[in-house]
Amino acid sequence: MSQAPDMSQVPATPPGPGRRHLTTLRADCARCVGLCCVVPAFARSADFALDKPAGRPCPNLGADSACTIHDRLRPSGFPGCVVFDCFGAGPVVAAGALGGQDWRASPAAAGAMMTAFPVVRALHELLWYLDAAVARPAAAGLRHDLVTAYDQVEALTRLPAAGLAEVDVDGVRARVAPLLRRVGELVAAGTPGPGRELRGADLVGARLRGADLRGADLRGAVLLGADLRDADLRLADVIGADLRGADLRGADLTDTLYLTGMQLESARGDAATRLGPDLDRPAHWTTPSRPAPVPLPTPSSRPPAPPAGRTTGARGARAGRRPR
Ligand code: SF4
Repeated sequence: MSQAPDMSQVPATPPGPGRRHLTTLRADCARCVGLCCVVPAFARSADFALDKPAGRPCPNLGADSACTIHDRLRPSGFPGCVVFDCFGAGPVVAAGALGGQDWRASPAAAGAMMTAFPVVRALHELLWYLDAAVARPAAAGLRHDLVTAYDQVEALTRLPAAGLAEVDVDGVRARVAPLLRRVGELVAAGTPGPGRELRGADLVGARLRGADLRGADLRGAVLLGADLRDADLRLADVIGADLRGADLRGADLTDTLYLTGMQLESARGDAATRLGPDLDRPAHWTTPSRPAPVPLPTPSSRPPAPPAGRTTGARGARAGRRPR
């Protein structure tokens, strides 16, 4: 049964300016129970130091659901854990589909966790994009549709585990994607930049230092290891762009559309990289260290499919932002 939102059933939700849901779309490990350290499978790679089957707790996960090596994930060989972002799905699943039950003690809760977390996580990523779109002044004419889509997707996240198992995530993405794409076009139309068409472009290792990429369509572009130092990416649409190992030192991303913390964590940057208020500067950008290696894509490190049908940063496991 498809659970794609029916855009014809439009509730009259008054749109509001600015990002409205940032708090609920951020990882909050203190209110989670280590779901992303249990549910996904890891393969030993540049992202993870060990193999782990799906559903088995990572050996570094403590009994209190905290990562025992959270303060040294990168040097311990787990950069994928730092990169990963559940977009706030963990607490929603812990309180909703699991009903507060401990997955360690309840086989039913463990099953619900396995079903619910990937679905809610994917829906929350869509909510992140929709929330970003609603905030754009250029999308004022679409705010009603965007807010409606947000509310409908958000409603799916509250389904019980059995209902979540029936959600057609790809169908939901397909319904939301045109809206997000249209917002990208409207935003780009208002930029003085050249608005380059680079959707899905292979820009691996590209030399784009100082490039004027304002308003560029970089949806799903592969910028693995690209030199984007001092580039101007304001108002560029980067949904699904692979920025792993990209050099963003001195780049301007203050108003970049659909940018995620995962993309930033997977890239390199510094104190001169300009970011908007909605995103945190990755800790490894300001810690003196050797340049971050570019993880090679592996089957297990394939990122989740974004609405544009391309990649979104590196797949990981447990956010290093766990406040312990
Ligand atoms: S954050 Fe990574 S290393 Fe730490 S417990 Fe979770 S999966 Fe394991």
